[in-house]
Amino acid sequence: MANRFGHALVTGGAGFLGSQLCERLLGNGHRVTCVDSFATGRPDNIAHLHGHPRFELVEHDMTRPVEGSAVPTDVDLVFHLASAASPKDYQRLAIDTLRVGALGTEHALRLAANAGARFLLTSTSEVYGDPLEHPQRETYWGNVNPIGPRSVYDEAKRYAEALTMAYLREHGTNVAIARVFNTYGPRMRADDGRVIPAFITQALTGRPLTVAGTGEQTRSVCYVDDTVGGLLSLAYSSLHGPVNIGNPDELSVRRIAEEILSLTGVSVAVTTVEGAVDDPRRRCPDITLARAELGWLPSVGLREGLNRTIAWFARNAVADHVSA
Ligand code: UDP
Repeated sequence: MANRFGHALVTGGAGFLGSQLCERLLGNGHRVTCVDSFATGRPDNIAHLHGHPRFELVEHDMTRPVEGSAVPTDVDLVFHLASAASPKDYQRLAIDTLRVGALGTEHALRLAANAGARFLLTSTSEVYGDPLEHPQRETYWGNVNPIGPRSVYDEAKRYAEALTMAYLREHGTNVAIARVFNTYGPRMRADDGRVIPAFITQALTGRPLTVAGTGEQTRSVCYVDDTVGGLLSLAYSSLHGPVNIGNPDELSVRRIAEEILSLTGVSVAVTTVEGAVDDPRRRCPDITLARAELGWLPSVGLREGLNRTIAWFARNAVADHVSA
């Protein structure tokens, strides 16, 4: 398998998910080019990969054409992850998020099509919006507010999915779409606004945990090693998808807060803050397709995953956060 896709290019390769994907690809024997603009990715995430003989970093914004840039074109596999991904980041970078979903995806698709490479789009559970079908199967078309604050991400990813399927139909490009559900683990930014880094940072610095709205809204959180495994399984298959990649263990936000308090062993208050606009009330993947067609399912349980993440934050991010 490693030889079949010799040279892998990862857009957004210096992000939380992208950097862990780069690492696993190197472990599988690929040559890896990481492309990142560092809009939300961080040099620290890939610092340990410099000097690896099969690793290269190209600083490039995917909203710009790759022609005439330092982005290599002799690629066998393109993973397109480049995008802000947390609600706080994509609402702050609203127009950039739309641009990278549209122009960035087109540039990445054109690169793959010209090279005859396999292309994998990391789409999102946000394409289901505030879902009226539960759990969410890939056949569900979603319930998205097209003009709300989350639309810049949701509609960009929906457009990216449409463009990806158009490349398959019009050019026969070898494409795949993964719909990635909430993923957590080491290298999330303490300040990215997402629920798990927020709660862990709050607990480790002795501040109240900020539960938004009722706290009864649910998410199904997947440890990053499992998500990366799902992306690789899809990339190495011949499926086009879309395929849900996520952990179907559905939890309320309040329960996530309780687990983090229990695992960190701290006693801080849990406060209620205003709920986010258009916040999906329930989210849980149906992963029947990934299990049946890829033989993939997540294996890291909530407590194990949270313990690893808490340990990493205690060593790294919280120290940075406190000294910042
Ligand atoms: N959330 C929360 N407190 C926080 C951050 C987030 O209660 O400090 C809630 C948020 O309102 C949402 C859920 O946690 O209901 C997941 O939010 P996140 O930003 O992690 O990701 P999303 O799934 O919304 O993209």
